Amino acid sequence: MDEAGILRDLRAVLGDRGVVADAAGMQPHLEDWTGRFHGRALAVARPASTDDVVAVVALAREHGLGLVPQGGRTSLAAGATPDGSGGNLLLSLERMNRILAIDRVGLSVAVEAGAIVDTVRDALRAVGRDLPISFGASGSATIGGVVATNAGGANVLRYGMTGRFVLGLEAVLADGTVVGGVTPLHKDNSGLNWPQLLVGSEGTLGIVTRAVLKTHPLNGHVCAALLSVADVATALTLYELAVDRVGERLSAFELMSGAAVRHVETALKTASPIPVSPWMLLIEAASVSASIEGDFESFVEAAMEAGLVEDGTIAASGEQAAAFWRLRESLTEAEAKTGPSAKHDVSVPIAALPDFVAAATAALAELDAGLQPNVFGHVGDGNLHFNVLGVDEATRHRVNRLVHDVVASFGGSISAEHGIGQYRLEEAYRLLADAQLRLQERLKHALDPGGLLNPGKVFRRRPD
Ligand SMILES: Cc1cc2nc3c(=O)[nH]c(=O)nc-3n(C[C@H](O)[C@H](O)[C@H](O)COP(=O)(O)OP(=O)(O)OC[C@H]3O[C@@H](n4cnc5c(N)ncnc54)[C@H](O)[C@@H]3O)c2cc1C
Repeated sequence: MDEAGILRDLRAVLGDRGVVADAAGMQPHLEDWTGRFHGRALAVARPASTDDVVAVVALAREHGLGLVPQGGRTSLAAGATPDGSGGNLLLSLERMNRILAIDRVGLSVAVEAGAIVDTVRDALRAVGRDLPISFGASGSATIGGVVATNAGGANVLRYGMTGRFVLGLEAVLADGTVVGGVTPLHKDNSGLNWPQLLVGSEGTLGIVTRAVLKTHPLNGHVCAALLSVADVATALTLYELAVDRVGERLSAFELMSGAAVRHVETALKTASPIPVSPWMLLIEAASVSASIEGDFESFVEAAMEAGLVEDGTIAASGEQAAAFWRLRESLTEAEAKTGPSAKHDVSVPIAALPDFVAAATAALAELDAGLQPNVFGHVGDGNLHFNVLGVDEATRHRVNRLVHDVVASFGGSISAEHGIGQYRLEEAYRLLADAQLRLQERLKHALDPGGLLNPGKVFRRRPD
């Protein structure tokens, strides 16, 4: 490979600012967020426009390089980390980060793919609108990244996954075609709904360059409660009560095991606002109307009167609510600081959550009493991060298989929101139905027959 020649061509197209090829500059682009996956690459291409992306795609094709799209690099599936071959070019969208248009009356926002989620939210909030895609890494994750992973987070039970926000996309395909645009149409049945094919495709079917997303009214009245419950079954009973009492204004219903909260206290020196108990819930409801406050209080009172709640408090201020959320959003970081873990991002039917937790916990204890479940997640989506501390490289694989087998016995999914990337590739090929795998491979072959885009992620490599 004529590396010097490729770099020269890249610089000719993107300019010096558009290419990073020195070891120090590339290092953060070569490692995943967990620090477990490392790869090699020729350079980081940093396009500033869609035309630049088209030019990089052409160059990669000409030289037979793979292209790995990168947003904020917060993937928990090692989706944005290159393999070890060195035959890839990284395509970072970080310079394409403009907010193109906020349509207040039309409830939409058009952005470039590298715009940071929280930056877009802040701009919307300043004009009374919101993009409720909330998770611990939304200060670094990009719009292209959340679209490409169909990211979830805390507000999915009310607003749905990222795909539900997508009104339109502009994308560059593997053959260099630019498709779509960012006209804010709320309805468009003129053909296949192809943007949804790119949603969750993890950079394997096309490079998202722009997106137009549906926004929502900013809820001026937000209530939050941090409550202790005895077990997951009680959490579910409380969820049902919340749905009945608060209705569609329920915006988050987050479950945290006491063990997970203790790791935040120990690893991050952040005290829980209420005494730690076996299971804790962060419940949020939000509305444009002040009436939510009375309704939320009466829901919590009813829960206490019914004996469902052992301890807890309603946030008395925005600061206190923010402290509740800091606790919740620190769980992943605290886990990473506590030690190596086997991550599981699973979903089961909501009603099956208590039985799933019991079955997976029992299976782990039988395998090795030293394994420590570190469980948290989104009750209203049936999605748990059933992570396991106390693993090493030798046991992680067995633990993954064991937990995923329990998930499969409930008809569940091995990736509720984080995606397959490279972390879950083997398990996806072990557990997904053949018909689904074949359909996916046919789509991949139709759009990217040469395997240019994000090689080694979601799809197994084709034998040469
Ligand atoms: C602390 C923490 C908490 C998290 N919590 C959640 C959570 O609650 N819910 C959740 O869903 N996720 C969560 N995540 C995972 C992660 O933040 C999301 O997957 C996020 O969507 C990734 O966005 P990103 O910009 O960082 O993308 P990257 O990590 O850079 O990339 C992710 C994938 O998208 C592809 N990609 C990126 N940009 C583009 C583009 N423009 N076009 C095509 N493909 C592209 C990449 O190739 C890769 O496959 C969390 C991560 C961390 C570190």
